[in-house]
Amino acid sequence: MTRTIELYDATLRDGMGGGGMSLTAQEKLRVVRRLDRLGVDLIEAGFPSSNPKEQELFELLVAEELAHAQIVAFGMTRRRGVDAAEDEGLTILADSFAPVCTLVGKSSTLHVEKVVRVSREENLAMIAESIAYLVGRGKRAILDAEHFFDGWAEDPGYALETLSAAAQAGAERVVLCDTNGGSLPLAVMEAVAAVREALPDLPLGIHCHDDTGCAVANSLVAVQAGATQVQGTMNGIGERTGNANLVTLIADLQLKLGHDLLDTEQLARLTETAHFVDELLNRSPNPAQPFVGRHAFAHKAGLHAAGIRLDASTFEQIDPALVGNRRDVLVSELAGRGTVREKAAAAGLHLDDEAASRIVERVKQLEHLGYQFEAADGSFELLMRRESGAHEPLFQLESWRTIVEQRADGAVECEATVKVWIDGERYVRTAEGNGPVNALDRALRQAITEIHPHLADIELVNYKVRILDETHGTQATTRVLIDASDGRGEWGTIGVGENIIAASWQALVDSLEYGEQAGRGAQRPESAVDAGERP
Ligand SMILES: [Zn+2]
Repeated sequence: MTRTIELYDATLRDGMGGGGMSLTAQEKLRVVRRLDRLGVDLIEAGFPSSNPKEQELFELLVAEELAHAQIVAFGMTRRRGVDAAEDEGLTILADSFAPVCTLVGKSSTLHVEKVVRVSREENLAMIAESIAYLVGRGKRAILDAEHFFDGWAEDPGYALETLSAAAQAGAERVVLCDTNGGSLPLAVMEAVAAVREALPDLPLGIHCHDDTGCAVANSLVAVQAGATQVQGTMNGIGERTGNANLVTLIADLQLKLGHDLLDTEQLARLTETAHFVDELLNRSPNPAQPFVGRHAFAHKAGLHAAGIRLDASTFEQIDPALVGNRRDVLVSELAGRGTVREKAAAAGLHLDDEAASRIVERVKQLEHLGYQFEAADGSFELLMRRESGAHEPLFQLESWRTIVEQRADGAVECEATVKVWIDGERYVRTAEGNGPVNALDRALRQAITEIHPHLADIELVNYKVRILDETHGTQATTRVLIDASDGRGEWGTIGVGENIIAASWQALVDSLEYGEQAGRGAQRPESAVDAGERP
């Protein structure tokens, strides 16, 4: 089936321009996998430059088999006065594995003359020759026409020429960008319609920023005026006030404008995918976000709730299940017996009705305390194992303790002592670390790797702390998320508590217990199933 609209995600490139946005190459890979599962067509991964982080990402991506999405490498048109084939940036793009390349080029005379300071003709040549070079190197090429709407207001004739230059050079599409984000829907609609009429055979895309609060609206009217690709970022992250929110756009395009984009299953992943990206970025998902926010389908008691019971359509714009969201405020994406059973089956566990209900209840209680399992798949699986009796703890805890000492010269030293019992034997281990959690990790691992040597291979790749403000107590609650990897797989775990080190300890223990579980699964593939079949 050919889609009527192409979905283009710019989270990993443009989205990272937002304040405080940073993801490791491994985390970006996890986002790519989720976007692929969601059904996004094109994923902009950034510029495949020689800096180690980008290099690592492109190396990971080249080895990745995606079901549907294609990776886009992003760069600029050639520098002025340089042959395209001699331009370093372009050759790096051409040499990358990415089948699609997006080039940003100038459409505004103001920028051409004042910022790039080249003649109008040279700017057109820069666009045409760069596109032609990439197409000649076997790439599908897209032009991002930067500052297009400002350029259109200054000199529509020239703005059109920049698009034609790209098209004639073989670009498969040009994307009209509201780079400063200052446009309003009516102006965008008129400009897109005029371009559509002037260049009827050229496929168009739209790329909006949210400086007027209209990025989604501008993108929608652009589609209604003939654009057939929308660019955006997950949850609208991006510089300044952000990019067009692709999550909202997907729901609007499909559920409101009737475009056939995602299948039912994919669309139902919208909420979990949106939350996953927020969790990775260590942001609290916006509860009021359209379609996927926790409060998007929340109802106050009284008239609304009564109306909902009679007929949900009385107070809801759509059925929340369509986008994987739900009505009940306190219930997460994971709650619901069907989902729990599905997740259990994926982990090789068989759950009866009673166990599934118990887990749903447990998740609700834990969420009330501040747990969120969207990015803590490891902890969620352990929870299911514990509730179904299929879990063997690595050790029995007697106690742990940390000491943090700062000296007069500013040096800080951390030490931890862990006392645990394994198979009836007592282990007391002390270690130093660059922080209290690192010291605890080392001490605990010294003890347990004597019995489980492979646990030494587990690497804690990420440690994130968030102070939760949504709890009711007088004391702030701390949520700790740890991502771990054993080289074969990665998993996330969670700990919550009033004490940051105690919360970290929980997440740490889950990381190792999950790693042990996963390692055992890898050595004896049937073991997970056996455990599940136990009466
Ligand atoms: Zn942008």
